[in-house]
Amino acid sequence: MKNTSKPTVGGVNTLCTHFGELEDAQFKGVVSPLYMSTSYAYEDVDIKRYPRYFNTPNQEALCKKIAALEHTEAALIFGSGMAATSTSLLAFLGKGDHLVISRQTYGGTQNLLQEEFGKFGIEFTFVDGTGRADYEAAIRPNTRVLFLETPSNPLLQITDLQAMAALAMERGLVTLIDNTFASPVNQNPADFGIDVIIHSATKYMGGHSDICAGAVAASSEHINRIFNLAKNLGGSLSDYTVWLLERSLKTMGLRVKAQNENALALARYLSEHTDIDRVYYPGLEEHPGHVTARAQMRGFGGMLSFELAPALDLSAFVRSLKWVRASMSLAGVESTLTAPAQTSHALISAEQRAKAGIRDGLIRFSTGIEDFEDLRADIEQALAQAKKAAKQGAVNA
Ligand SMILES: *Cc1c(COP(=O)(O)O)cnc(C)c1O
Repeated sequence: MKNTSKPTVGGVNTLCTHFGELEDAQFKGVVSPLYMSTSYAYEDVDIKRYPRYFNTPNQEALCKKIAALEHTEAALIFGSGMAATSTSLLAFLGKGDHLVISRQTYGGTQNLLQEEFGKFGIEFTFVDGTGRADYEAAIRPNTRVLFLETPSNPLLQITDLQAMAALAMERGLVTLIDNTFASPVNQNPADFGIDVIIHSATKYMGGHSDICAGAVAASSEHINRIFNLAKNLGGSLSDYTVWLLERSLKTMGLRVKAQNENALALARYLSEHTDIDRVYYPGLEEHPGHVTARAQMRGFGGMLSFELAPALDLSAFVRSLKWVRASMSLAGVESTLTAPAQTSHALISAEQRAKAGIRDGLIRFSTGIEDFEDLRADIEQALAQAKKAAKQGAVNA
């Protein structure tokens, strides 16, 4: 693809605001014009623009911005995060190949492998941990890809990017990472030698819970390889949504900074609270991945998890919150939460959940941009309700 300009200047907010914008030569409007055309007259054999070829004016402009934000040569935008993940994986894996991936990854990615990869003859190994030793032990002669996700979902475990890139280099493997939780504001895996960076742009890039999209950033060579498959699989994004995503990206630096600050303040508040058993947040010094996170992240992200003390009624806690809603998705400007034992992990037994580190009082919290004091007060009153409900439950039982 042609998006090979690598910026040498500009902080993250400047890149978000200015980089890769289209110029409105006709009317001098200050934002990118939106070109919805699916048909472009062509003059030479070289450029045939078409949305499914990922090369409309708006698509190419947004790819420049994303590549700049991820410190890579090129990027591609997709119709969803899973389109980005599936296309990228299949671009590097064929029949008889093998990949190593952690159990601590997004559930949809695990489903993709478990439900689809068998029929392509692609083998995979799930490792329980997220460290180099866990991955290394699973490498086979036919291994081609290491798939990473850090911070991980839902326990916010940290993988050492540099150690993984070194391992991949030694063994001649390609590294793919799901960088959704960190966002390009907090973490640029390419700086540590990771090859292919994947985002569900539905999350922090979109940031307003109203766009479904995906993105991949990598070297021009790797992006070309992914593009060659992508144009056949057809997971491109509509130009209208591309344009909306460009608008969202302008404020990503500000949003994520506010989310980082709220999440850190919330993690500190909760870790000192007697009604909370445990807090998982890489920004806390007691987090086992804290030192690694410090070395490879600029901020620790808006996602955290915590466990209510067993003496509290989880359902009553969730019900009593006024600002914070229980919802499956994440990374919007509004705070949301999910209880994995009631949602994503509801269908497996409590014993299996425990093995995966998912305790029944676990809550995964996506921090928004609200004023911290309002969030804290909301959680405080909901904890009081949860305590009261648990006491009543005990009396009624
Ligand atoms: C949501 C999500 C995805 C999948 O993205 P979609 O846009 O829903 O397809 C992948 N990885 C992570 C970490 C996610 O949170």
